[in-house]
Amino acid sequence: MKELSRMIQSLPESGIRKLQDAAREVPDCIRLETGEPNFITPEYICEAAKKAMDDGFTKYTPVPGIKTLREALAKDFTERLGKEVKISEIVVTGGACMALEAALGSIGNPGDEVLVPDPSWPVYEMQVMSLGMTPVPYVMPAANGFEPKRENIEPFITDKTKAIMVNTPSNPTGAVFSEETVRMIMELAEKYDLYVISDEIYDFLIYEGKHCSLKALDKDGRVILISGASKKYAMTGWRIGYLIASEKIIALVNQMMVAMMGNATAVAQKAVEAAITGPQDFVGFSIKDYKARRDAAAAIFQEEQVGFSYPHGAFYMMVDISCCGMDSEEFALKLLAEEHVGVAPGGTFGKSTSQMIRISCGTEMDNLCEGVRRLCRFIKKYTK
Ligand code: PMP
Repeated sequence: MKELSRMIQSLPESGIRKLQDAAREVPDCIRLETGEPNFITPEYICEAAKKAMDDGFTKYTPVPGIKTLREALAKDFTERLGKEVKISEIVVTGGACMALEAALGSIGNPGDEVLVPDPSWPVYEMQVMSLGMTPVPYVMPAANGFEPKRENIEPFITDKTKAIMVNTPSNPTGAVFSEETVRMIMELAEKYDLYVISDEIYDFLIYEGKHCSLKALDKDGRVILISGASKKYAMTGWRIGYLIASEKIIALVNQMMVAMMGNATAVAQKAVEAAITGPQDFVGFSIKDYKARRDAAAAIFQEEQVGFSYPHGAFYMMVDISCCGMDSEEFALKLLAEEHVGVAPGGTFGKSTSQMIRISCGTEMDNLCEGVRRLCRFIKKYTK
């Protein structure tokens, strides 16, 4: 038979998925490798989906999503960004994952270069490559709190650079970019005429400081804001994300939506509408809970004198394993075998973090603390 796709076969394997598959096979495993809230979707949201089903709301919807959901999103983002967002500037997608793919697909051509943060969620690199574009990493130095400086980005901009991807608060580091950093990125984007794809899916989960949205600083429609319901409302399985951009870009995003899935799932859209317009107590409660877990994990690392990044947002922590002299994947597999703890190898997020691993605090407090203790014990055992 004829050859299968060279492009897809050339994509890097996700180190997170590999560890997930391996961890599933280990009984009593403490799973710290997955970036997913441990909560189940709040009841009032599920009720809205059940009602939608009972009402027969089970057909195709308009391509960019149902009007009432986009109205709710427009109101929410207008308040949060401090500038008007129209419903014509919003598309509801199959998760933030699809919003990112649609954003990249709408602005890029094969051969274009896209600046991708190192470290970052590995899907960015896969998506850029699968669209025939070239990912160019820019480092976010650990020594600078995992925030990029101008000199980490500017030298990598060429005539072929089409866009820069940004993620604040960051997966995997938990860094929350300062206003200075966000302004610097916007200055570069304007100077070199780059689009900005800003993944702000963790914007609600800030422990210290404040979230600075790149979209809030957008003067001429070059910023595409990506967000979604997965993390904020514990709705990972519902697959609803959103993309906010200029009407010019939205026209192309809608074309991609037609080709990719037509429209996001009807009942899931109703559920997210209820999530956004309903009481926000769950969000407040979950932020407090994540913060308590971060504090507890940080206290153990400090007590055990193991190097880690202190995240100011999102629910991840990077842990230094350079003292063990192991590759991060080898470390993660050995830790899984010996201590029954799953972690994500740092190398999967970029070259700069190949001597680190990522843990997710999206698990119950006792589980997290036990996992962190075992991790510290393992690091000490193998410290050279
Ligand atoms: N962006 C980031 C930074 C993420 O961490 C994730 C989920 N791991 C996503 C996007 C994807 O979210 P969704 O479930 O909405 O596709």
